[in-house]
Amino acid sequence: MNVHEFQGKSLLKAYNVDIQEGFVAETPEQAVTIAEQLHEKLGSEFFVVKAQIHAGGRGKGGGVKLAKSAGDVGKLTSQMLGMQLVTPQTGPEGKKVKKVLIAQDVYYKGESEPEEFYVSILLNRDKGRYIVVYSPEGGMSIEEVAEKSPDLIFTEEIDPGTGLQPFQTRNIAFKLGLYGNAFKNMQKFLSGIYETFISCDAQLLEINPVLKTSDNRVLAVDCKLVLDDNALFRHTELMAMRDLNEEDPIDVEAGEHNLNFVKLDGNVGCMVNGAGLAMATMDIIKLSGGSPANFLDVGGGASPKTVEAGFRIILKDPAVKAILINIFGGIVRCDRVANGVVEAYKSIGEINVPVIVRLQGTNAEEAKKIIDNSGLEVFSAISFREAAELVTKILNKKN
Ligand code: GDP
Ligand code: MN
Repeated sequence: MNVHEFQGKSLLKAYNVDIQEGFVAETPEQAVTIAEQLHEKLGSEFFVVKAQIHAGGRGKGGGVKLAKSAGDVGKLTSQMLGMQLVTPQTGPEGKKVKKVLIAQDVYYKGESEPEEFYVSILLNRDKGRYIVVYSPEGGMSIEEVAEKSPDLIFTEEIDPGTGLQPFQTRNIAFKLGLYGNAFKNMQKFLSGIYETFISCDAQLLEINPVLKTSDNRVLAVDCKLVLDDNALFRHTELMAMRDLNEEDPIDVEAGEHNLNFVKLDGNVGCMVNGAGLAMATMDIIKLSGGSPANFLDVGGGASPKTVEAGFRIILKDPAVKAILINIFGGIVRCDRVANGVVEAYKSIGEINVPVIVRLQGTNAEEAKKIIDNSGLEVFSAISFREAAELVTKILNKKN
């Protein structure tokens, strides 16, 4: 699960990590009030208005703007709210901005120049260790740094048993070229972000830029936090940070019915029980000359309800020209699934594409009879290949 920058920063702050302070606003009036408060409490003269969407590269797309007065904050906020923000990570359609973060300007002039670093923590699955990836060349073009000067990207492996050690935080701060107070502040910063990462069961915590301010503080200016869905049950407070507006409505609907759904760009919708069988089904559709429109694993149960939910989700895709249902009745009985298919078909009413059903396993023969006698545009098959060939035959006949 992804969270917004402002949510990630609030978690960092809770673990004593210094951040670029700010508050989230949903109207220009709120934004102005926040700017006035930041001025009063922190003495901020300038502010940044930052679009809150689940995508990076906002700076490049016009989603991060500097404001030189509270009035400017109001103006920029009204321009940004409601806009369709396109960044290198959103795709050409962009994402609608519904919230903005009003933050203090932390790039103020002082005894030294502000410096931007890149720091992230993630899991290296091959090694079974955490890894800190960092670079002295942080900011908006880290992808370019990775491509053109990979020697400026460093890593530090962490043994999960012992955690991030002081010698490691010293090594990182040193390689980032820091000394004095900034060196110490970076060490504290690194320990804090590691604690946040572990405590939240995160999959990725990426802070770009980490800023060394002109007075040697070390702050998180941005925050990308991805939480491990499998551990979310341990964190009800984090679950509440989910923003359904940022997720694809089809994924949300599939999740509500416990369906594992991945959209693809072919024309044969498929509904299968079990991930392995679903993969094999996509393969055989390809081998028979078709192309799968999705991956859909309805799980072990395959009740009439899940079958109906699966149908509805598949039918949302206008590219779908046929649906292949491939169910192996191990725990679930095929006749029950067949009844489910017939029921779902009738209750949805408008299924304008042929449906090919292959039911194999317990009570497969009874199931075939139920399908054949239903009087619906549903074709039954018992063998796997027969089902896939039937799909291509029907598709070719239509064209
Ligand atoms: P991203 O583009 O989505 O990664 O958004 P970031 O939060 O990383 O911000 C993008 C860029 O905006 C940063 O790399 C900075 O250069 C700039 N920026 C962010 N905060 C401030 C600020 O307080 N003052 C100034 N002058 N620039 C800022
Ligand atoms: Mn960033």
